[in-house]
Amino acid sequence: MTTTQQLTPSLVRVVLGGGDLAALSMPDATDAYVNVAIPPPGAPYDDIFVPADVRERFPKETWPARRRYTVRSWDPTAQVLTLDFVVHGDTGVAGPWAAGVQVGDVLVFEGPNGGYLPDADADWHLMVGDESALPAIAASLEILTPGAKAVVRLVCDGPAHELELSSPGEVDLLWLHRAGVASDEDLLVSSVKVAAFPEGRVHAFVHGEAVEIREIRRHLLVDRGLTRADMSCSPYWRRDMADEAWRAVKRDFVAAMETEVA
Ligand SMILES: Cc1cc2nc3c(=O)[nH]c(=O)nc-3n(C[C@H](O)[C@H](O)[C@H](O)COP(=O)(O)OP(=O)(O)OC[C@H]3O[C@@H](n4cnc5c(N)ncnc54)[C@H](O)[C@@H]3O)c2cc1C
Repeated sequence: MTTTQQLTPSLVRVVLGGGDLAALSMPDATDAYVNVAIPPPGAPYDDIFVPADVRERFPKETWPARRRYTVRSWDPTAQVLTLDFVVHGDTGVAGPWAAGVQVGDVLVFEGPNGGYLPDADADWHLMVGDESALPAIAASLEILTPGAKAVVRLVCDGPAHELELSSPGEVDLLWLHRAGVASDEDLLVSSVKVAAFPEGRVHAFVHGEAVEIREIRRHLLVDRGLTRADMSCSPYWRRDMADEAWRAVKRDFVAAMETEVA
């Protein structure tokens, strides 16, 4: 790990260099993600480890926690990889790790994989998410063709948590703030429901909290007539569930989401 930067009160940028980054093969996607592996304190193996070996050789309670993080940027010349971590209070593993990370610390990860790239043939783009989707949305906005239309709806805690985003496109951007709102779970959903959509075929990217994403997906397919092929839509995390618990039910949740509106 080479540098860190506090981007907003709840977003920490971690810039990785060295290690075996030279071997990295980046997919052509703006939502490429890596599987990071964060060992528990006092883990009985080296800082640099192969997750599968650890699972084979060490007791389960010492296994690293697995989390997914989007590649915010990759510089193949300098071999520098940038990830942005949401620090959501002091709960969890990856958030607290990012809050306390020091230059020289090691981060083990596998990947990357990814699948979404804004479709240059679409008439316009819709991008919706919370802080966890910001790295993918920021990277996607940066590569739009000049003048491409994008409607972007983002939710964050308050004005200090907004991030400056740049794009050669024509962007209709609205930040929604959780602060001062009795229940913030409807913020994104409601704002997408009232958003004025440009004419023509949209290519949509909708990622973030599971229940919110499911409702936005339903609205886009049922009320706005989008097709599944024109949407990249997935629940990144689930309110009140650590990632281990979420991964245990995610397959069923996604299956139910997909049969609800196929
Ligand atoms: C493909 C993919 C790409 C992702 N990219 C990113 C990324 O670039 N940056 C990023 O920050 N996250 C990203 N996420 C989401 C991230 O993996 C999860 O938020 C993860 O649960 C965080 O782990 P943790 O150890 O910090 O918290 P956990 O131990 O998983 O959870 C502890 C508690 O915190 C809550 N929580 C988890 N995430 C959040 C959050 N974002 N906001 C508020 N509360 C939360 C949980 O509901 C739980 O109650 C991505 C997820 C996927 C599937």
